[in-house]
Amino acid sequence: MTKTDLNKYRNILETKQGELEHVIRNREAITIEKSPDALDEVQHAAERELAIRNLDRESQLLRNVRGALRRLDDGSYGVCLHCEEDISPKRLNAVPWTPLCIQCQEAVDRSRDENNDSVDELLVNAA
Ligand SMILES: [Zn+2]
Repeated sequence: MTKTDLNKYRNILETKQGELEHVIRNREAITIEKSPDALDEVQHAAERELAIRNLDRESQLLRNVRGALRRLDDGSYGVCLHCEEDISPKRLNAVPWTPLCIQCQEAVDRSRDENNDSVDELLVNAA
């Protein structure tokens, strides 16, 4: 990967990181907001639950983005964490924060379907 490529991905990742930090900060504010009106409680509970689910997803994404930035720093960016093959430029352009090549990602998706947590752990440790 050329220096120009690396700089391009760093820009994308830093922008994404800033966006996610902003969204997550705002969502935390929504999540803890409490209504004094009991009638609103059911509505609020549903909104809070949705907010928490989104927060989980955004937090996971932010971990991936930060992990990718760290790999840019240590020179391992663009290499699959699982099989250590280069991740295709096409995939990096689509998902610049991905830690996995497409083959390994598909294996993860398949094992998720089978409720196998071991690859999830790999990803959490990698993030
Ligand atoms: Zn791989």
